[in-house]
Order: sequence, then C-alpha cells, then structure tokens
Amino acid sequence: MIMLAVVALLAACGAQTPTPVVTKPRTVTSPKPTKRPKAGPPGATRAGTRPPVVDHGPRTGHRVALTFDADMTDGMLYNLRTGRAKSYANLRIIDLLEKERIPATFFLTGKWVERYPEVTRRLAANPRFELANHTYGHQAFTADCYGLPRVPTKDMTADVAKTFDTIAPYGGRQTRYFRFPGLCHDGAALAALAPLGLTVVDGDVVSGDPFAKRYQPIVRAVLSTVRPGSIVILHVTEENAAMTDEALPHILAGLRERGLTPAPLSDVLANDTKGDDTKRQRASRHRDGHVNRDLCAQHADRTHRCRG
Ligand SMILES: [Zn+2]
Repeated sequence: MIMLAVVALLAACGAQTPTPVVTKPRTVTSPKPTKRPKAGPPGATRAGTRPPVVDHGPRTGHRVALTFDADMTDGMLYNLRTGRAKSYANLRIIDLLEKERIPATFFLTGKWVERYPEVTRRLAANPRFELANHTYGHQAFTADCYGLPRVPTKDMTADVAKTFDTIAPYGGRQTRYFRFPGLCHDGAALAALAPLGLTVVDGDVVSGDPFAKRYQPIVRAVLSTVRPGSIVILHVTEENAAMTDEALPHILAGLRERGLTPAPLSDVLANDTKGDDTKRQRASRHRDGHVNRDLCAQHADRTHRCRG
C-alpha cells in the first residue's frame, strides 16, 4: 500500500522532482578534448529545466538551515530617504552570528545589496555565510501575493538574473538558491525561471518575524516546528522585523537543547539536491511541498506569517 502511494506520488509529480545535472558530451566540432564541466555553485540545476522547489533537507542527522531574507522595495527605500525608517539591515543579527560562529544563508534582494554594499561585503567575507537570491525589488511573482506589486511575467527571468548579477561581484559563497517574495509561486513563475538553472527554496519553519511586536512568539514558532533538515525563514530587515535579533539567542539555545546544529543551506540540502536521494525522500519532499502551501493558504489573512 505504501509502495503504491509512493509510486502514485512519483507518477503524479515526476516533472517537479529535481533533475540531476547531466553532462552531455559535446558534439565533435571542438578540436579540444571534451572536458567535464565543473559542478556549479550550490543550487545550480541544468538551465532550461523547471526549477526544483525544496522545503527542507533530509530528516536525518542534526542539521538545520537558518535563512535570513533581506527584502527591499521602492517603498522601503523611500522610507529610508525620508527618515521614516532608520535601517533595514539588522547588524545585531550579523554580530551575533559572527560572534557565535553560526552558519547562515542570506536571501538578498538586488535593491538591498545596492543600498547596503558594505554589509553585503561583510556577509560575503564570512566563510560560514551563503548568499542567495530574493528577487531584485521584492515584487510578487503571482497575481495574489499579500498585496505586493507584481512583476510582469515577461520580466521575471530578467529580474532574477539581474539579482544574481548584482550579488555575484561580492564573491564569497555564491549559490543558485532563490526564494520568491511571500513564497508565492505558480507554474508560470517556475517556467520563467527555468533558463536560469536555479533551485527554489521555500522553507518548512515560518518564524513569523516580520512586524512581530514581541520576540517570544517568534521563538515559539521556530522551536515548536523545527526538525532535522528544517529550513527556518527569518528576516534581517530590522525596521520590518524588529524582534528577530532578540529572538535569535533564544532560538540558538533551543536548537542546542534539541541537539540541532545550524549549517549552511547547501549542507542541509546536500543529500537532497544531488539527484542521488531516494524515491522516498523525493516523495516526501513533494508531499511536504503541498503541506507548506496549505499552511500558507491557512494564514492568508495573517499576511506576514507566510512572507519570505
Ligand atoms: Zn521577502
């Protein structure tokens, strides 16, 4: 029965399972011997294939990924220019992660990088930090996404490509991981990103830190749902997530108590994206993908809960 269910799931969603990077031999026009291309950065997939969507890594071991989104919209830039907001870069978070030598992965918008080049340099210089892509200006990639203005479908590929180009010069641990604003995506959005050869990262632990008034609910939300392989969604946007730095020490202590260790996202996903994962893992990932979207739908009226 279980086997049947697994087979049915795989049959139903074969197109959504990650495709291993396959090296095609070159045709004979080149005089040089065929070279094996180097493996791409973490999250790289074969350009032209529909990006895999991951919510978490294997549920074995003790590693979890702390991910921090760095949103930046034109409205936020306006708030900074006019003094309505002081900062969307929470240095206390970075200080703590550095001091405690905690690995983390930062999903950066292009406009945040342009506004905070020094902070971006600091992130890139830390060998424990990975850099990932969170669109150029934090616009929505679906019609109905928490009221965010929408990127026209024809501009989606260029928006995400431009963001990779904005982050790349900073070096450090570059990846091909990408997170949609609000985690909102559909088939058209995934198809638009296929040429870029990336992996879409949602997450299975929604901390709810944006616009939180107290740190305790953030800590509770994380520690009540975190498991081995989890991807925890947090924000480094200070003014829009003012309690995250207060929550973080408690989250770190709680993870330690549970025997869980923060690791770079690529380590957490390592067994999951190399194409050598088991059928059971692929089926589980797909099933949980649905769970994740359902969770977001339930919280649609509490918009910040699901925002990436
Ligand atoms: Zn975001």
